[in-house]
Amino acid sequence: MDKEHLLKLAGDITDQSPKNYIQAETNSDAAYLGMRLFERPVTGVAAADDEAFEALLAPAAIGPHFMRPEQWLPGARSVISFFLPLSDRVKDANKRDKDIPALEWLYGRIEGQMFINEVSAAIRDEIIKAGHHAVSPSIDERFDFNVNIPGKALPAYTSNWSERHVAYVCGLGTFGLNTCIITELGTAGRFFSVVTDMDLEPTARNYTGLYDYCIRCGVCLKKCPAGAFSKDGKSNRDCSVFMRGTSLFFKPRYGCGKCQVGVPCENTNPCVRAEKGTAS
Ligand code: SF4
Ligand code: SF4
Repeated sequence: MDKEHLLKLAGDITDQSPKNYIQAETNSDAAYLGMRLFERPVTGVAAADDEAFEALLAPAAIGPHFMRPEQWLPGARSVISFFLPLSDRVKDANKRDKDIPALEWLYGRIEGQMFINEVSAAIRDEIIKAGHHAVSPSIDERFDFNVNIPGKALPAYTSNWSERHVAYVCGLGTFGLNTCIITELGTAGRFFSVVTDMDLEPTARNYTGLYDYCIRCGVCLKKCPAGAFSKDGKSNRDCSVFMRGTSLFFKPRYGCGKCQVGVPCENTNPCVRAEKGTAS
């Protein structure tokens, strides 16, 4: 059992799981049937005691409510993070209108989450089957996320495990001004992760700064239909209010994602392209 085995398994599930394709019960319209949501993932690994996890306890990062790998799994040795890029069809559909999210994008968000839950459980269970212990925090009953519930222990718009921050620690990429992670396969996609007591070789972080992969072009900021970005950064509240408002058209689905498509970092690390003189 090694990282390559788990990556291949995640890729094979992505290719083969019916949950990664629109089924008739979701939309019987022939135009959507069989539409693929995600492409094969990339992965990165961090040691569970990497001091970068400790740094996430700072209020400027996640905050003291962040649960460290050891808290999710006593004896944890490694954290594995996966990035699943959205398919071209999902991404391209979301470029058609500058304000209204594409139905394809919302499938990637809602039905896509069901697929992500399936693949993260499968990776967790494969590790357990091999005689180790494993937890996938985002589908663990202790996972806690607070959109904005007054009186709740967590601050608003935060959770006790952040797939984005964990991906950064695991070497998958850095933040962009849109607050998403930019990987070698871009920013338009989703993450999941597994904490395990298996020893795995950590992935080298090819960066030192939080925003090393972002060329600060500002395209994502201008695309936001909610005006959620200002000189103070991103207003999670404005973003959330806008996204929930889209349920007027798409109930029970809602979303946006305009800051992740039609941008230089959509499909790639733009710094690499810029170094080659091909940034757009
Ligand atoms: S669109 Fe430009 S500024 Fe925004 S995250 Fe991507 S590279 Fe950074
Ligand atoms: S998801 Fe939409 S509303 Fe939220 S920050 Fe991105 S562009 Fe703005």
